[in-house]
Amino acid sequence: MTAQDSRAALADVPDCLLVDDPRFEHHAPLGHHPERPERLVAARAGVAASGATFERVEPRAATDDELSRVHDPRFIEALGDLRGRSGYIDADTYVSPESIDVARLAAGSLVAMVDRMIDGSCGHAVALPRPPGHHARPAHAMGFCLLNNVAVAAAHARARGISRIAVVDWDVHHGNGTQEMFWRDPGVLYISTHQFPFYPGTGDVDEIGEGEGKGYTVNVPLSAGGGDDVYASAFDRIVLPVLESYAPELVLVSAGFDAATRDPLAQMEVSPGAFGWMAAGIARVAAATAKGRMALVLEGGYDLVALEASLKSAIEGMLGSRTEGAEPGRAPDDEGVTRAARAAQKAWAAVT
Ligand code: ZN
Repeated sequence: MTAQDSRAALADVPDCLLVDDPRFEHHAPLGHHPERPERLVAARAGVAASGATFERVEPRAATDDELSRVHDPRFIEALGDLRGRSGYIDADTYVSPESIDVARLAAGSLVAMVDRMIDGSCGHAVALPRPPGHHARPAHAMGFCLLNNVAVAAAHARARGISRIAVVDWDVHHGNGTQEMFWRDPGVLYISTHQFPFYPGTGDVDEIGEGEGKGYTVNVPLSAGGGDDVYASAFDRIVLPVLESYAPELVLVSAGFDAATRDPLAQMEVSPGAFGWMAAGIARVAAATAKGRMALVLEGGYDLVALEASLKSAIEGMLGSRTEGAEPGRAPDDEGVTRAARAAQKAWAAVT
């Protein structure tokens, strides 16, 4: 499967917008690294296998102004100095010669996607940006991430007059960068399910935002080994009720697939079908309050088989075309879900 092939699914009346570009492969490690261009081959195969029809969003680079809504201008300038170079920014975050331009292209393409979701007739979107974004902090690259794609997109939606944006982050790692960027902002609800304790160390239930943003960060830390029933319980008890209550006008999903059973970097046990079930639940809220506007934005996911199957299932769930996979059972006793439900109820009661 190549970018060329995935364009075969483009149609006159598309089900969904698609953000993808061959240049997203040009961010490439020198040696072995889990965050590698081959992930896009798997993701594109998942997109094609969904059977949906897509209209491609024309990729374009983010401007300094668009990036500086969430990133420190000095950091943006410092990243620019890395153009043309190869090496490691920290123990696991690499740059290759084209990485900075690719990262700007990825973030800018999400800005273009948000514009199309607001102005066009197609509210659903799938985006395959590389490098991923949710660990990127205002002034630091980290955790394979250079620029925070979803945060740049959310900030753009805010600038376009959308007053309530929800970011649902089901990547197995906590999206510390996104949380930090909207920590004091009630206009962006950040809800994350993640393995805990785990990299990057943040995301406990008492991290709920501050000031005006207090209550608008909701963390659901899950014990290692949790599977579909734990995620279903977390979505039933916390994610979907909070989302419904917030009534977002736009939903961006930080859709990492590293909570999948096969993933080599984490220890959760989520099946491909459960990602479809989770996407369908979010899509129901988006249909009720956000004119259906919902985007699945790729973050992590390092087993190529799981990535392909899980993304396919998530797209089908979002578009309501899911035909396989049973409804997951529920796990009422997961300690993380129970703690998070209690904390979320308390924090959420204070702001609603
Ligand atoms: Zn991750």
